[in-house]
This record gives sequence, C-alpha cells and structure tokens, in this order.
Amino acid sequence: MEIIHVSAECYPMAKVGGLADVVGALPKYQNEEGHIAKVVVPMYRTKFLYDNEWETVHKGSFAMEQMNFDFTVIKEATNKLGFDLYCIDIYGLLDREKVYGYDDDTERFTAFQIAVLEWINKWEHLPDIIHVHDHHAALIPFMMQYCFGYGKLKNIPTVLTIHNAQYQGWMPWEKAAYIPAWDTWRWGLLDWDNMVNPLACGIKCAHRVNTVSPGYMQELMDEANGLEGLFRAESAKCSGIINGIDYKVWDPATDTYIMDNFSVKDAEDGKAMNKKKLCDDFGLEFDLPLIVFIGRLVQEKAADLLPAAFQNALSMYPGRVSFLVLGNGDKTVEAGLTALQNNFSGYYNTSITYNEKLSHLMYAGADFLLMPSRVEPCGLNQLYALRYGTVPMVRRTGGLKDTVIDIDEKGGYGLCFNHASLTDIDITIQRAMELYDDKKKMKEIRKTMMEINNSWTASAEKYLELYQTAK
Ligand code: ADP
Repeated sequence: MEIIHVSAECYPMAKVGGLADVVGALPKYQNEEGHIAKVVVPMYRTKFLYDNEWETVHKGSFAMEQMNFDFTVIKEATNKLGFDLYCIDIYGLLDREKVYGYDDDTERFTAFQIAVLEWINKWEHLPDIIHVHDHHAALIPFMMQYCFGYGKLKNIPTVLTIHNAQYQGWMPWEKAAYIPAWDTWRWGLLDWDNMVNPLACGIKCAHRVNTVSPGYMQELMDEANGLEGLFRAESAKCSGIINGIDYKVWDPATDTYIMDNFSVKDAEDGKAMNKKKLCDDFGLEFDLPLIVFIGRLVQEKAADLLPAAFQNALSMYPGRVSFLVLGNGDKTVEAGLTALQNNFSGYYNTSITYNEKLSHLMYAGADFLLMPSRVEPCGLNQLYALRYGTVPMVRRTGGLKDTVIDIDEKGGYGLCFNHASLTDIDITIQRAMELYDDKKKMKEIRKTMMEINNSWTASAEKYLELYQTAK
C-alpha cells in the first residue's frame, strides 16, 4: 500500500509538538511492515534542511486567486529517516524559520496544500491513501473531491488524523477564493458558523477521521471548540487510535542526548547519573524528589497554574521537593515561572526555551513528570516518561486517562488526579513525595513502567485497518 502523509510538522525536519513525533515515526513503522509510506511537509528553513542532502523531484506552478506561485518539491537524498521525506518550497511563503505564527499562515498552508495536489496530480500512478494531519492539511480531502482540476484524485481514500481539535484554521469566506476552481454547490462543506473552517471541512470530507486516543475522541463529542455537534453527526466514521512512541529515538539504552544510558536492569544507577547531571546543571539538590514539567506553556497544558502550584509547594514543603521546568509559550506564564527562580534557588529552576536534547535528559533524570493538562489529545510526554522510568503525574483527561493507571489501582504505576486545579496538583505533589520515600515501591513501579510496550507496532497496525475501511 502506498500512503502519503501530508503534515505541517515532521521530526526531525520541523517540530513544534507531538504532531512532529507522530509523523516522523508512524511512516517508519509502516515501511517496516512492507508498505510505502512517504511524508510531505513545507520546506521551512530549519537546521535539518541545511544539514542534509536533497534532490529536486518536481517543479510546478499554480495560481491562488490573483497570486501566482512557483513551487519546488525536494526529497531527502539518503532515506536516512526510514521513509521518503519530501519538502515543498514556495518562495515567499514557506521559506521561513518557524513553522507557525505568521500573519499569512492561512495563505502559507492553503498554498502548501494546493502544491501537494498539483504535484500528485502529475504522477503517472495514484497512491492508495492520502493521510492528512490536522487543519493545515485538512482542505485536501475537499479539494480532491470538488476541485475540477483534481478529478483524477477524486477516488483516492483519505484519512484525517486530528492531533489537536482546538486549532481549526478558520478563515473568512473571501479566502475561499484561494481554493482552485471548485464546485460551488458544495460550499456548505467548507462552512462552519459562517467561516471557512478547514478542520470541520476535513471531518466532513475525509473518508475516515481519527484522533490520537480513544478517550479524546469521546471528549470531542461533548466539547470540541464548537465542533462537538459535527463530531457527533459524523461519529460513524470517527475513531481513536492511541499514539505509539518511536523506540528508535526514545530508548534510554541508546539515547545519545542523555548523560548515561540505562535499561530496566540498571535503571536505578542510570537514572541517578542523569539526575546528577541535571541537578549540577541547574543547581538543584540531588537527594530530593525531582518533579519536572516539559511542554508548551499554554492554557491547554494548564501551564497558567504552574507558577502558583510550585510557589505553594516550595513554601509549604521547604527542602523536601524540587522542580525543573522546560518550556516556552505564554509570556505571562514564562515571567511567572522565571520570577520563582530567585526565591527558591537550589530547589527550583527553569529553562524558558525549546531544547530537544535537554528534554531527553529530563525524561531520563527526573523522578516525576507533571502533566496537569486541561486538554490532552494523546500526550507523548507521559509515554516518554514511562520508557525512561519517570513516574507520570497526570490529570485524567484524553490520552492521559488512556495510558496511565494510578498506583492505587491494580497494576498501577502513575499518579492521577481529576481536576486541573491547585488543590489537585498539591495533593499529587504530596503523593509524589510519599512515594519517593518508599524506595522499594519506587523501584517496583519503575520496572513496571519501563516494561510497558508503547511502541508504534500495535498502533501502526490499527492505522492499516483504518485505511482498509476508508472507501
Ligand atoms: P503537544 O503536541 O500538545 O505539544 P505532546 O505531548 O503530544 O504535546 O508532544 C509534545 C512533544 O514536544 C514531546 O516530544 C515533548 O518532549 C516536546 N516538547 C514540548 N516542549 C518542549 C520544549 N520546550 N523543549 C523540548 N521539547 C519539547
């Protein structure tokens, strides 16, 4: 089966969050199963682009309303990622350093999607599945079916995976003119609440729709940033498939980003070495339970609660617990987290940045990973934490609920709580401190966590089953 993934992110070419990890891993596993999985992303000007060899595979042009664009498709020349990675360059639109956050993101991603279809439309054969990810690629199923120029692609099955339904790509109706000549009788498929809503359009037009955990799909039926009615209406083609993790990238036994490699057999010593490095680098007390947070500092992750939660704990339990934060995002949260540094030095520190290497060291060296998320479609951090023997402290929501069992339940290994609130976080910090003091239990839990199999193998199989039903 030939599968074309279309996405705004793909690790290691361009990563902002979990979308990149999924698109950088699932195709690899699909190829290992004997399929041909390819990935197409915009050609941002990232380090990966400059560090690697590329060959040009196609050049074309298209009009977007009054604007004419030339585009180039390049391919990573050595197949080092375990799948063919194609990047689309559109001069003046995609040639930027960052993935998102520009005023013309609507134009950028609409043009990207048009270029993808212009290119595939020129192929001599047709792929078996077009698998689009999130709203940046969600107009593709509509365009394949209703743009007159893409009639050849009309019958290719499409799958839309929603990694985050909060972001929908809304655009005013006048921008519908960007879409190449289409059957205007179908305008209702583009519309949601008098806006063009690419995510809603993808849900309506893709043959199958899935989210990255069953729990999140269930939640979206009740609360989906305005799309809950649509999810309910389309429920027959909607499902949830939990993400796996890329065992080749995320393996404490081989990870080149960490201080000391370890596996389940020598996890105690290995984790201690990594913790020592973290504590030395950030001036933290080694003997205390180390709780870390890694992630985007946004509302969805309940990052706004963190400054007060840490301040409370550090004041109420002085010298008994320490915290380290890696993340960036909301400026008020960044300032709140930075401000704590002076008052609690030795017990608290932050790194307000994006740092892939440090994140690996933190998964390896921390005792606990806190995720109080309000919304968590799947959550990869807790899966990485489990693999690196770090106890997840998670709010029961979305994929967190699907992947972490509380230590008070049979076979449990995590600390779970119900509300994204200061009280629940405080109670869970207390539970973490108690658990940390029980060395025997910590050791048992660590073994249980590290032996859980969260690799992509099972989930990749579920995607293949989904493709087979997508007609
Ligand atoms: P989301 O996609 O909502 O941000 P996920 O849990 O699905 O959340 O994936 C987050 C990914 O991004 C993980 O690989 C995590 O380690 C990484 N990440 C998030 N913030 C940072 C950061 N500041 N530095 C390094 N890695 C980060």
